Amino acid sequence: MPEFCDVALAVPLDMVFTYRVPADATPVVGGRVLVPFRQQRMTGIVVELHDRKPNVTTKNVISVLDTSAVLDDQLLRLGRWIADYYLAPLGEVFRTMLPLGAEFKRSIGYCITEQGHMALHLAGMSGSPARSQRSLEEQAVEFRVLDYLAAHTSDAEAVLDTAQSVGTPGIATNGKGTASAVPLLAAENPASAAEGRDLVREETLRSATHSSRALLDGMVRKKWIQREDLSAAQDATRTVKIAILKSTEGKLNDNQRNLVDTLAASGGRVPVTTLHSLEVPRTTLGTLVRRGVVEIMEEPANFTVSRSKPRPSPFDFDFNAAQQSALNGLRKSVEGRKFAGILLHGVTGSGKTAVYLAGMRAVLDAGRSAILLVPEIGLTPAVAADLFQIFGDEVAILHSALSNKERAEQWHRIKRGDARMVVGTRSAVFAPVADLALIIVDEEHDASYKQEETPRYHARDIAVMRAKMANAVVVLGSATPSLESYFNATKNKYALVELPDRVEDRPLPEVEIVDMRQEFQETGHEQVISRKLAAEIKDRLDRKEQVMVLLNRRGYSPVVLCRTCGKKLECNNCAIALTHHKREHRMVCHYCGYTAPVPKACVHCGSEYVYFLGTGSEKLEELLHGLFPQARIARLDRDTVRGHEDFERTLNALNEGDLDLVVGTQMIAKGHDIHGVTLVGVVGADVALGLPDFRAAERTFQLLTQVAGRAGRGQSPGKVILQTYFQDHYAVQYAARHDFTGFYEKELRFRSWMHYPPYSALANVLVRSGKLDDALRWSGLLGKWFDATRHEGVRVLGPAAAPIVKLKRDYRYHFVLKSPSREKLNTTLRAMLAHAAKQKIPRTQVIVDVDALWLM
Ligand SMILES: [Zn+2]
Ligand SMILES: [Zn+2]
Repeated sequence: MPEFCDVALAVPLDMVFTYRVPADATPVVGGRVLVPFRQQRMTGIVVELHDRKPNVTTKNVISVLDTSAVLDDQLLRLGRWIADYYLAPLGEVFRTMLPLGAEFKRSIGYCITEQGHMALHLAGMSGSPARSQRSLEEQAVEFRVLDYLAAHTSDAEAVLDTAQSVGTPGIATNGKGTASAVPLLAAENPASAAEGRDLVREETLRSATHSSRALLDGMVRKKWIQREDLSAAQDATRTVKIAILKSTEGKLNDNQRNLVDTLAASGGRVPVTTLHSLEVPRTTLGTLVRRGVVEIMEEPANFTVSRSKPRPSPFDFDFNAAQQSALNGLRKSVEGRKFAGILLHGVTGSGKTAVYLAGMRAVLDAGRSAILLVPEIGLTPAVAADLFQIFGDEVAILHSALSNKERAEQWHRIKRGDARMVVGTRSAVFAPVADLALIIVDEEHDASYKQEETPRYHARDIAVMRAKMANAVVVLGSATPSLESYFNATKNKYALVELPDRVEDRPLPEVEIVDMRQEFQETGHEQVISRKLAAEIKDRLDRKEQVMVLLNRRGYSPVVLCRTCGKKLECNNCAIALTHHKREHRMVCHYCGYTAPVPKACVHCGSEYVYFLGTGSEKLEELLHGLFPQARIARLDRDTVRGHEDFERTLNALNEGDLDLVVGTQMIAKGHDIHGVTLVGVVGADVALGLPDFRAAERTFQLLTQVAGRAGRGQSPGKVILQTYFQDHYAVQYAARHDFTGFYEKELRFRSWMHYPPYSALANVLVRSGKLDDALRWSGLLGKWFDATRHEGVRVLGPAAAPIVKLKRDYRYHFVLKSPSREKLNTTLRAMLAHAAKQKIPRTQVIVDVDALWLM
């Protein structure tokens, strides 16, 4: 048995830590261990077992949590690649890859101190209490506590969980999927895990410890510990179902009756957690299980499946020739069992999803696994319903609304091989499937695939790398592929497959541009809704057709300006103007959530001449109500949509014809298939063109194309009215002509001149601090170092104030690094981080964002 193990811990340090393997434990590479780190205990992933004695003294592993790897060789390798490519600490990468945080929680434990041992010892020697002024009863309690802690001390500490008892008997014995949980608990608190009767003693002890804290002063130490939350991990997965209702009459006590009635009232099937809110002891459920009255069973994800009408299955209609050929190519690649990349470029409404699902079905039939990645907002309950219809229990759905517990349970289902079709947002790319055959990235251009915290990975790029490691096929699909992906396809890194037509020969919508500068000249004042758009909306409403209007800015007014001193009302934490939200009657920062009262006078000079300028989606909705008082109007943005259900409700209402008009931010542009919408209005979608960001044109083109794609998906053809102040801008012109390749070629020339991706690898290095002095000094130090050191083939721009110079109380300065060679860029960044460490700049204050999507 090797003597040492190297452990990756989720701390912001670019290293692994060596621990001594205890004699009675066997860690595995890719498995978790509990180790002491500074003043706490942490779980980490074992990355190597070895006999190389380190120069420093090593601490022991406290306990081995997994007897088999939770990250297999391929995922370990992928994690190392991510840590290297994105310059992220390996432990933080693994934490992202492994959504098992819920299985551990921090709680308070107690351990006996030297003084406590001494008191016990003295009491034992003299046979009399150590402090005679205490009552006998108090002393008895005190010694019971010390005795217990002393008896359960291994590794010089015993742990007493005060948060919750160690699980409900009856549930705890139902062990499927929790086998790995038990060893930790046993190591932590052998008595309570092994036998239920120790729970009573623990209860006694707990109250004793609380009530006599003063007594125990100095003899017992309180300590934060990290431990496995066994009951929580189980609850998430289990549903209670009434198994036998006969013979229960008259034989149940009140608590049991209450529970059974609740079950019956809910149709005989509820999640275990629901029963916990009943005022009955937790043991009641266990008793009923033992008596066979109820049964606890595992269920697939508790995802709210859409209540809307069943939609036609993707297999109910015939594939057109292009779809069929795309599917054939995909299946052939999968059968080849070699890495292959496919860029599926299909116009909006061309039936890409049907191709994905048919491809996945083929993988499932072959007994292998597939992962489908979707953007954040793409995973509605309606999509979930489709997936269950096609894949049944074989599908695991990972979405942002899952709690940590639910996420952990889905992870276990996938790991056990119970679910081989995985559908989810960004982090689903790490799903622990076996025999991976296919990864599909839907809407591959979508910015939600990029994680904006450490590790700052891009799920699309991880999908490609993972497919390479697994000899699998990766499909990137979009109507507006990212410049990078399309460039790779033209360089034959991916096969390019086109779906040039909409299904059932429906035409793409006609797009008409309205020049808002001219509108201003002709009407004499600033318009939000042009005369043309208003007329077209009225026409559609008269014909009982539906309309969507996009304004990619939420709130009522984005700016509050003082006409006397000229200052704006800004957030206290950020260099950002506060947005007026009329309904909530607040000023809100869209970056940090800070709110302030609506000002009656200027906060800077006291003047009463404060003006509310500009239009957000809330005001647009109000204006439309004013123009079309008879219309049924709803709004979709982050203020009206708190969860997938809100989103779904509005889309359903639109689908059912209960709404005439929907106003919204980019949320309305994404992938929805509403057949009644024949008109899309775009109000100020070119706001982004004014931003200092080299991706502004690409983002605008994508947004305009995607939102235009919502029109005319049913029997009637669609139309788009595009209001803009930049009518000559190529992003607007090409979007209006549905000309992706035209845009692509133009944008590519610009990227080439400016040495931007895909011609250069790019990284944004952000230096931040709550103290302006530190931010300036640190960025100055790094700036000097960049100047003094030769970095052949790497351009360094900066330091410069970041476009948003203050964000969430941090002052921010940045560098932009560009290089045609990824290796050289990586080497320079690594050397820069080493220099920053030498200069004692905290690692958390230097953010390295490789392939940054935002330079703000
Ligand atoms: Zn003022
Ligand atoms: Zn703010």
